[in-house]
Amino acid sequence: MIAEEEAREKVLEKIQVRASRRVSLSHALNCFAAEDYFSSLPLPNFDNSAMDGYAVVASASGVGKRLRVIGEQPAGLDRKLLVSPGEAIRIFTGAPMPAGADAVVMQEDVTRESSEIVMNADVDPGDFVRRRGCDLTEGQKIVAKGEPIRATTIALLASQGFREVSVGGEVDAAIISTGDELAEPGTKLQPGQIYESNSVMLQALLQRCGAVVKSVGHCKDEADSLRKTLEQATKHSVLIINGGVSVGEHDLVQSTLLSLGAKIDIWRVAIKPGKPFVFGRIRKCTVFGLPGNPVSAFVTFLQFVRPAIFKMMGAANFDLPKVPAKLIVDLRNESDRPHYVRGKCENGNFSPVGRQESHALFGLSQSNALLRLAVGEVRTCGDIVDIELFN
Ligand code: AMP
Ligand code: MG
Repeated sequence: MIAEEEAREKVLEKIQVRASRRVSLSHALNCFAAEDYFSSLPLPNFDNSAMDGYAVVASASGVGKRLRVIGEQPAGLDRKLLVSPGEAIRIFTGAPMPAGADAVVMQEDVTRESSEIVMNADVDPGDFVRRRGCDLTEGQKIVAKGEPIRATTIALLASQGFREVSVGGEVDAAIISTGDELAEPGTKLQPGQIYESNSVMLQALLQRCGAVVKSVGHCKDEADSLRKTLEQATKHSVLIINGGVSVGEHDLVQSTLLSLGAKIDIWRVAIKPGKPFVFGRIRKCTVFGLPGNPVSAFVTFLQFVRPAIFKMMGAANFDLPKVPAKLIVDLRNESDRPHYVRGKCENGNFSPVGRQESHALFGLSQSNALLRLAVGEVRTCGDIVDIELFN
């Protein structure tokens, strides 16, 4: 059994970053930028109106003033209009400011009388004008290499005229669940059976990391069929085998992997929940064996598989987001392994939720955060602790 940090380091050391590729912006969500991006256009790109209203010369405007409306500038092509004191130009949100105008008065603040307006409010220079470059200037870094591409990153890149972006390589993954007791959801349960729930969870977790799940298989605790299923699945970059990685007579994963020529780098990690964890490879396929207990599978995925996938995909940061929170109970880790306590982080407070055993899926489903307690660590109510957010 090796220490948790050592296991994570070992996993990351063995993982290769995949070659980058170019994708359209519409396919870039949850990828990681493969290079730095800089702005080539300021935002906004020209002075424009923030409102539907009238472009005016502020010094010649104010309550009671009557202005002659001499033209109209909608959003779109710049009509190159010019406005002088005593005049106004009908203008719409996003339309370029006419030359001579230095403010916009909202349409709600004027009374229109045929070709004139009467002002019902004062106006200062700059009112409702979005200045060129006030949001972003040219040459600013807008995306850093290794940064996750979010919906907002995509919008920013599009606003600079990009149609494509260079991102880290794709990770294709396979999942195999194992266990004689597992029945597929939607089928009738026989006495002693449970519904198989881990593979869909792992699929969701992989997808959320940005990996592409290519196959999901199930296998009985039977060496031959496990061998065949495993062999098929190793054509993918990543294989997650779930269950059967412990030491009972029905835990066949480790021996089957070895019989297929796997190189096993890690077997058993000091982490709770999750001790029976396997990491290795068969040819070019990176193999993770996760414990069958749902909470153990979840925690080991987040602590070992997620960082590995992020590294493959070119991420700069592999950690879960961490935030400080106020603990609202006393906690002590009396086990011989670091303990990831599942709980809820809400309004800056953290409290454990439900049973803290590795089968307790309901408690996990009500949680959104993990608190890691080192061996022997004691925490008291009111302590500020760093928690890892996973939702
Ligand atoms: P194992 O790691 O195979 O010894 O399984 C440990 C526990 O997790 C047992 O109670 C199994 O029934 C349960 N388990 C294993 N695989 C799954 C799965 N895919 N979905 C739900 N529970 C599972
Ligand atoms: Mg099993």
